[in-house]
Parts: sequence; structure tokens; C-alpha cells
Amino acid sequence: MTNSTKKPVSVKKNSKRRHSRSIVSRKNLTIPISVFGNVMKQFDAAAKKLKMDSSIMDFIKMPRRSTIVNLPVRMDDGSFKMFKAYRVQHSIARGPAKGGLRYHPDVTLDEVQALASWMTWKCAVVNIPFGGGKGGVVCDPNKLSEGELERLTRRYVADMIELFGPDDDIPAPDVGTGPKVMAWFMDTYAMRENRSVPGVVTGKPISLGGSLGRVEATGRGVMLCTREAAKHLKIDLSQATAAVQGFGNVGSIGAKLLHDLGVTFTHVSDVHGAIHNPKGINIDDLIKYLHAKKSIIGFPGTKTVRPDAVLFAKVDILIPAALENVITEKNADKVRARIVAEGANGPTTPEADKILAKNNIFVIPDILCNAGGVTVSYFEWVQNRIGYFWPEDEVNRRLEEKMVAAFQDVLEVSKKNRATMRIAGFMVAIMRVVDVVEQRGIYS
Ligand code: GLU
Repeated sequence: MTNSTKKPVSVKKNSKRRHSRSIVSRKNLTIPISVFGNVMKQFDAAAKKLKMDSSIMDFIKMPRRSTIVNLPVRMDDGSFKMFKAYRVQHSIARGPAKGGLRYHPDVTLDEVQALASWMTWKCAVVNIPFGGGKGGVVCDPNKLSEGELERLTRRYVADMIELFGPDDDIPAPDVGTGPKVMAWFMDTYAMRENRSVPGVVTGKPISLGGSLGRVEATGRGVMLCTREAAKHLKIDLSQATAAVQGFGNVGSIGAKLLHDLGVTFTHVSDVHGAIHNPKGINIDDLIKYLHAKKSIIGFPGTKTVRPDAVLFAKVDILIPAALENVITEKNADKVRARIVAEGANGPTTPEADKILAKNNIFVIPDILCNAGGVTVSYFEWVQNRIGYFWPEDEVNRRLEEKMVAAFQDVLEVSKKNRATMRIAGFMVAIMRVVDVVEQRGIYS
């Protein structure tokens, strides 16, 4: 298997592969930041504090199985195009592998391994009986027709069908995918099995066995964690200001629910750019505007600003809700928020983490902050298994219970060990995985 992060490559200035979220320059070389390398550093820092048996640590930190396939897909013009695709099962120690399926042009094996690993720790932090997995297809879903996307999804399932199943590996939406892709996924799997298997994916449309509250769940979890952090830091949310980077499912819903609690959003950005209004942006109206115009730019009452202005805004709460490696050692010193609530997976590098900690910024780590999505995925899977569906307020009540308990568990370990919330989150998760591995034993 090749790993794009292994050897330093120099990248042309305007090359398509050059992506600011994953590149650092050292002298004349540009070296991609290995996202999986970042998870390793986070893991190692927590493992060091735990002082546990190093052979178990070696066992639980590496991805269990990584699969790479090349998918031929018939395009609308009759031609065939090849798409590289991955599924990584990082761990099945605590239950079936669980995690999203990402469609994005910059997907790499390194990234999918990192995302799969974060899923293991995320599921353990919120204490749900899953391991970690992740899938990815190198494609730009915005440039594919609905028919092409459907054929791509069905071929993805068919080529790796033996990996999936409600007791094996359960995908869900991630960047670039949503309920529609999950419906095709479930249908392909069910056709191949010749029976109905709703529990093979989560994040399905409601009429196909999806859970009420699943679409909003990740954003709701971000709101709940931010609310708990504000309580802990004695910040009054009705007086608080915020900035959100990324206005997709997680960023927009997280911002909407915090806005409902009285938080004033002064900065919002999406893939098209960033907007600012020092008096506050009405998030409900912005969501309607986005649906109509497909971009946040030009929203009445706001002016367009540089995307950087969002990360460096002087606000109480900063929500990075886009992709990895946006807060790095190069810019972390410019972050002026009091709370960083990680809606995205991996937005902060380990080097940046140290700078944020030194500047006394309270980071709610991704494996806690955005765990609301997979928590309601768990509820969806449970409802699929019992064949009985809960009302939305019950889903939300159970989600709140899980998120608040997880936040308190991590906060307690953080205080006891004088560790950041990230390291404490990893400590909680590692302890839970190690407990299971010790009880099961290692089959060798
Ligand atoms: N893709 C989401 C995440 O990164 C959800 C995963 C799931 O529900 O399985 O947490």
C-alpha cells in the first residue's frame, strides 16, 4: 500500500493537489501534514500519561484493515471513469466498525486511516458499543450527476460487500455524502443479500428506517458541548459572540442551535468565502438564503471578508466545522477565541494544540465535540434492530444524556491529570478500549 505522506514532495504553487489545509513548508520543501501522523501524536501523548502496557498500545493504535479499490463507473456520456476508493476498519474491539463515507477530491488513504482511528476514540468517548471505520472516494460530488453518483455508490458497495453488515461495519454520511447516498448503499446491500437490512448503514432517509434527529445530531452535539464548556468557564451564552468556519450540515445546525440560545454570530464562512457583521448574523435567515442562493456570500447586512478573518475573529466561541488541519503551528497564535469547538474532524494539528493550550484557549476536541452524529447513528441502529422508532424528543433527550456524561467524564480526567481536553478525551477512550481488549484477550 502506498501512503502519500511518506516522502516529502515539492508541489507546484498552483497545482490542484496543493491544499492549504494539509501542507506545511519547510525551507524550500512543501510537505503534506500526515493526518494519521497527527492522530498518532495525540494517541501517544495520552498513552504516555496513562503509563499502560506498551504492547497493548501498539495493538490498539494501528488500523486493523485497510482496503483500496479502483471503481469503474459509467458516466452519463457513455464513457467509463476510474475512481479510487477506500474503506478502513481501524478497530472492532468494542463492536462493529462504525464511521462515515466521504466523497471529496482530496481523499487519501492517510486521511481515511486518521478518520477511522478518530471514530474508534469517538465511539469510546461517548461510550457506544462500536469500533471505528471510515470510507472515502476520490471524487468531486458536485461535478457528478445524480446517476453517476448512484452508480459510483452502488459499485463501491458491491466491490467491498464482504466488509459491510450490521454486525461488521456500518457506514454513515460524512463530507460530500448524505441520506440519498445511504439509501443507495442500503438498497445495493439489501439486493445482494436478498433481504431487508436497514441496519447496514445509518443516516438513512426517515422513510427507509432513518432516525428522527439524525440530520441535526452532529450540530446538536456541538451545541451541547459548547453549552457545557461555557457553563464550566462561566461564560454567559446570551452575551457570547461566535464565529463558524464551514456552513455545511455541522456548522449551520450547530450555529443555529447556539443562536437559539442567544449566541451572536459575527463571522461565518463556507467554501465560497466569509461574511461578517459586528452586530450579528441572523443564522435562521442565513440558512434560508444559502438554500436559495447556494452560497452565503451577499447575505444582506454583511460584508465579505477574508476567510482568515473567521479563524482569527475576537469572539468567545470559534467553531471550525470544515476539514482537517486548518489551525496549525503557523496560525494558532492568532486565534483569539476562548473556546474552540471542533465540529470538524481534525481541524487542529498537535503543534497548534500546544499553542492554544499555552494561550489558555479551551478546546473541545473533535472526538467529543462532534460525537453527536455517531451517537444518534447508534440510536438509529438500535431502532433498526428492535424495529420500533422513537419520537424526536426521545432521541434528543438520550443524545443530551450521552453528550453531557461524556463531557463530564473528559473534564474530570482533564482536571485530575492536568491534561488538555483533547489528551483527556484520548485517555478516557484508550482506557475503555484497553479494558475490553484485556477482558477479551488477544487471539494469536
Ligand atoms: N461521519 C460522522 C463522523 O465523523 C458520523 C459517523 C457515523 O455516524 O457513523 O462522526
